[in-house]
Amino acid sequence: MEKIKQSLPLQIFIALGLGIVAGLIFLALGLADFTTDFIKPFGTIFLNLLKFIVVPIVITSIVQGVVSLSDIKKVGTIGLRTIIYYFCTTAFAITIGLIFANLFKGTYKVLQTSDLAYEAAEPTSFMDTIVNIFPSNLFQPMVESSMLQIIVIAIFVGFGIIIAGDKGKLFSDWIDSVYEVFMVIMRGIIKVTPIAVFCLITPVVAVNGPEVLGSLAMVLLTAYIAYAVHMFFTYSLAVKTLGHMNPITFLKGALPGFLFAFSSTSSIGTLPVSMECVEKMGGRKDVASFTLPLGATINMDGTAIYQGVCSIFIASCFGIDLTFGQMLTIVLTATLASIGTAGTPGAGMIMLAMVLQSVGLPVEGIALVAGVDRIFDMGRTGVNVVGDMSAAMIITDYENRREAKEAKAAAK
Ligand code: ASP
Repeated sequence: MEKIKQSLPLQIFIALGLGIVAGLIFLALGLADFTTDFIKPFGTIFLNLLKFIVVPIVITSIVQGVVSLSDIKKVGTIGLRTIIYYFCTTAFAITIGLIFANLFKGTYKVLQTSDLAYEAAEPTSFMDTIVNIFPSNLFQPMVESSMLQIIVIAIFVGFGIIIAGDKGKLFSDWIDSVYEVFMVIMRGIIKVTPIAVFCLITPVVAVNGPEVLGSLAMVLLTAYIAYAVHMFFTYSLAVKTLGHMNPITFLKGALPGFLFAFSSTSSIGTLPVSMECVEKMGGRKDVASFTLPLGATINMDGTAIYQGVCSIFIASCFGIDLTFGQMLTIVLTATLASIGTAGTPGAGMIMLAMVLQSVGLPVEGIALVAGVDRIFDMGRTGVNVVGDMSAAMIITDYENRREAKEAKAAAK
């Protein structure tokens, strides 16, 4: 594990570079079709495998998290605090994204692209979204990867195990075992990330030419500046004021998790690493095993930033100027949109459709940024995971204080 963690980011960068070079060579040889027919499918296999692993990992890790808190009331208070924290930081993140995108808007060129096509899902109303969180069937959410329903199932199962006591022990052990087995599979999948990155980036360059990277450089730069500001400013402030922790210590401790997320572009795939980082920083295991998997599924600050930046970018490309009201709508929808999808590669781009629709922007605009989504995704997943770790540290501090206070009161 240690070795992969250290070398994976480097391998990914090499693969990214080689992929771009290979793409240019295939382009020069006129073999762009070859790359989409025979290289891209290997990248797709990797993405499929990551999607396949998400459901078992999320269910088992959240059940374990709830069980490890061993008290339903505690799950309630910790859960509520965690969710409020995730909501607030996400809204903050998207605001930062919008501010920087507005500052840089003048530098975005109107892009010429021949194949503006993207199919969006139908948007659902707010109340329907709430109702749909509660599943009417045990297996359907797993089949359809409906993450919010899966979280609800996992929390109920966790509660069931706690209340059933000794009788629930066998089921709990079984869940632990399922978790371990799928973790082993996931580590295997993550190991081949460099090959997947190569296979995904080569056809992008071969089909679109090097301009796809050049013309999108400004919007990529905007997103990365906003990612950095959110990480260094918002999280530092949050861990300092809410978690009573030195921000430098936090950022240093979170670095391996960031790098792993950056390379794998999967918050879920990064879970074992972020768990280790939090524990090394003194975070509590019971808190981390609940807040981290929950965060990997619902907390996506980097994704929210990306959605804000891309909305402004796409609007500019189509010559549309967004009003302040529309930007507020973006803050709201992007916050909600970043909750519903799991931390897997490319998930944020699918949610971007919902954000664009909410303010009447052309959804086909996604095609403008789709080519370089991988590069956006690396940064946004890194931010997502650091956000999850900040919550684990803040809630740890809160729990430690609460317990100390209770112990003091009991001693009196
Ligand atoms: N890849 C991101 C994650 O795993 C989700 C996204 O695509 O924005 O957190």
